[in-house]
This record gives sequence, C-alpha cells and structure tokens, in this order.
Amino acid sequence: MGTLPLPERLRKCVELVLRFWGHRVSVEWSEDPFELLVETILSQNTSSENAERAVESLRRLCGGVLTPERILEHSTEEVAESIRIAGMQWRRAVVLRRLCSVLLTQGLDLRRLSDLPTPELRRRLLELPGVGEKTADILLLFHYRRPVMPVDTHITRIVSRWVGRRLRYSEVQDLLHRVLPPDPELYARTHLALIQFGREVCRARSPQCSQCPLSIYGLCPSRCGGGVAGHGGGAPERS
Ligand code: SF4
Repeated sequence: MGTLPLPERLRKCVELVLRFWGHRVSVEWSEDPFELLVETILSQNTSSENAERAVESLRRLCGGVLTPERILEHSTEEVAESIRIAGMQWRRAVVLRRLCSVLLTQGLDLRRLSDLPTPELRRRLLELPGVGEKTADILLLFHYRRPVMPVDTHITRIVSRWVGRRLRYSEVQDLLHRVLPPDPELYARTHLALIQFGREVCRARSPQCSQCPLSIYGLCPSRCGGGVAGHGGGAPERS
C-alpha cells in the first residue's frame, strides 16, 4: 500500500479486479425499463436463479409480456403465487401492483424519461414504489446507460474492506465515481466484475486473501493477517 493516496489505491484495486474478472462477465443492456424494474425488485434478497424463475413465472401469468396493465389484470393473490419462488411473495406482489397503479395513474412511460438529466431522472425513479437507490441506479446504468454505479451487498463489502471501515451506499458510490471515467460500458463491466470477485474471492465469510491479487500487490488493508482493519472492516450485509 505504501503511501498511495486512497483514490489512486482504489483505482489500482479496480484495475486488478477488471484485469482478472472483467473478461469473465458479459454486459447486457436492457431495452425495456419496466421489465428491468420488475426483475430488480424480484431479485432483492434472493438468489439470481430464483429471481429469474419468478420473472419467468410472472411473465407466463401475464401471457408472455410484462406490462403494468397485464400485471394489474391479476389479483395480489395470483401475482404472489406466481412469484412465490423469490420469497416474500405477498410483500413483493403488493409493491408490484402499487408500482403498476402509480405508473398507469400518472401515465408514466419509463421509456419517455430518457432525455432527463441524470439527477432528475434518478429523483423521478426514487419516487416510485419499491424503488430504492440500488434499483434506481440499476435502471440508470443498464437501461438509460448513464455512468452511475449501482452498489450491492458484494460491492459495499469489497470497497469497505479496501478502505478499512464500513461504508454507506453513497460513500461507496462516490469513491467508485471518483476513480472511474464516466463510461457506462466500463461502469457496467466493473459492477459485474466486482460482484463476481465478491462471490469467488472476497466473500462475506472466509475471503480467499491468499489467492487475491490485491493482497499479492499489497493493496488491501483488510487482507487476512493484514492487521490494519481485519475483516471487521467489512460492510453490513444488506444491499
Ligand atoms: S485481500 Fe482479502 S479482504 Fe482484501 S480484497 Fe482480497 S480477498 Fe478481499
């Protein structure tokens, strides 16, 4: 680590993660913001496999097309039953139907928001039922292609360990925005590479520090035996 200033050290950390994990992820842009919103709401606090199965099941219920109108043709019970695999199906069904109602009542077509500046667009998304910071930022990046980094539980934990203390969502995001040029493709690849790195190496429990390139290059104060912040510097396990 030496005396490298924090932004420079974080830039090197991100570069290494991209070098080793960036080629193993593929960026897929979403053409349909409503569908991406539903997928993201269903993926909260569940595995990606179960979220995908829930989306497919809901799509079948809606005759193959996910739209607010089609979802509202079904009762809360029917929606909940179709997304049961994702867990918390009642709460999610209520949120989804409320979201659909708001979109239809306001006549709000998410595709038509594309011309808004990013801060205004983010504010509009955050006003919708079921949409928190991470969900809004996923839409901003993967549909609207804005250079905004969504921060999930893996990314919070990893960057907190790099810094050596627990960080809030906005702190993690600000740091990553400072070290990355504003390129949506690069943001998307970095987001996915960090998640992969968090699943395989910088795990919540038993991080594989001995196999971690950041440890080898002396860039992480939380590495096993590093003695600076230890893994207590990890992040809270909520998105
Ligand atoms: S050295 Fe350990 S704590 Fe630090 S980034 Fe690598 S796996 Fe995570």
